[in-house]
Amino acid sequence: NSVIVDIIHSVAFSLSKDAGDSSKERSGEVKVRLFLKRQEKRPSVSSRTVGAARAENIGFFGSSRMGSGADVLPIAHYKIDVTSRKPVQQIIYLKDFPQDYLPVAKSAVESWNIVFGFDAFKTATANADVDLGDPRYNVIKWIDGLDEEVPWAGYAPTMVNPRTGEVLATQILVNGSTTRKSFSGIYKYTSEAAPQFSTLAGKIGNVPLVEGTGENPVVSFFADTKSKSEEDYAKGYYLSVIMHEFGHSLGLRHNFAGSTVIDSNGVSSSVMDYEPGFVSNIRQVPGSYDHAAIRWGYFGESPTTQMAFCTDEDMAKRYDCNQGDVGKPEDYVVAGLIQGTTVLENLIVPLPDMVKKPMKSMMKTALKIIELANQLPESERQKAVSEIQRALERVKNAQPSANLSAAEKAIVETNLSKLSASYADATAPKTPAPLALNFGL
Ligand SMILES: [Zn+2]
Repeated sequence: NSVIVDIIHSVAFSLSKDAGDSSKERSGEVKVRLFLKRQEKRPSVSSRTVGAARAENIGFFGSSRMGSGADVLPIAHYKIDVTSRKPVQQIIYLKDFPQDYLPVAKSAVESWNIVFGFDAFKTATANADVDLGDPRYNVIKWIDGLDEEVPWAGYAPTMVNPRTGEVLATQILVNGSTTRKSFSGIYKYTSEAAPQFSTLAGKIGNVPLVEGTGENPVVSFFADTKSKSEEDYAKGYYLSVIMHEFGHSLGLRHNFAGSTVIDSNGVSSSVMDYEPGFVSNIRQVPGSYDHAAIRWGYFGESPTTQMAFCTDEDMAKRYDCNQGDVGKPEDYVVAGLIQGTTVLENLIVPLPDMVKKPMKSMMKTALKIIELANQLPESERQKAVSEIQRALERVKNAQPSANLSAAEKAIVETNLSKLSASYADATAPKTPAPLALNFGL
């Protein structure tokens, strides 16, 4: 059903992320392969638009991911016949995964079948002919050896028919060895710090502060190094990353308000949020928002309850649109900043090099909530603002705990110097944010 012209052309390139810094230069050879795919006579055209989704508090990518006027575009979607419920309508190839991560990727993809109510997707191991960028195949590829500066664990630049919104090919990149290496570092550090940390850090609501990766409020940390291995944590993390990226390929945009609603299984309502590790580590399936979004986009069913939703461009405008939080954002930042400071005043293990600015993103969220406090209910506004200000003061005035030996105090002081640098950064006057593109990291 398609004609493919295959042109292979080699070009040399040289890239430098920071002009003038030769250590950041990368060079190599890129093989360019051009595919021409004949459009099907009856492509799958969604009758649903990005704007209509938004009116239901649901976020879909359009047939084109960039540019203004996206509201009128048909939503991005796989060609899935939801009436026949025929199984295996799309095969998702897993490329270059280590053997023991294949079941993780399979579970992540097939968890979406639960939402569809039948086995629409099936995974298969890719052979040598199947690769990313080839529009004949849906591919999720494990990539080793990425730069440490690469800011994503997964990336989903899915190929979509610009006229119809139909997904031509899934393209998902998974950051393999580089992310695994940083995981190892965190786990080693954690094993050392765990006994002390677990007695210091508390809970926010009913969720512990301590289990986490990137979005953890204090430092990257895994609490339970006794009963859970490094592999257990890493697999839990990749499960949730691949589930999130596959959600992008289904057409779903981020939902950074997803974590303001906690489902009955104790996990937040959307895998399309950036979740703290203690949430992502226990997630097994997409959430109630994800379910409602797919049922709307693929089945035409309207949500029966009001969805909590916001996406990338709402973050600067809404107090409750944040990455890495869970529950009520105003309560989360207060508890996180106070408990995080207590931890850093007492923790006698040096923070690892990779933790450069502890709690910086949390402080920035706290400042944003103060700025947008008029969006909070009037009865709660004053209390919320004064508590956040008190928490920020607590960070600013952090001191080593009184009962430490001289050697311990030196470690704590070094850790706290990172915290002061972080505070200075977070409270510095704002520079305009760079233009964000909605590529679906
Ligand atoms: Zn994403």
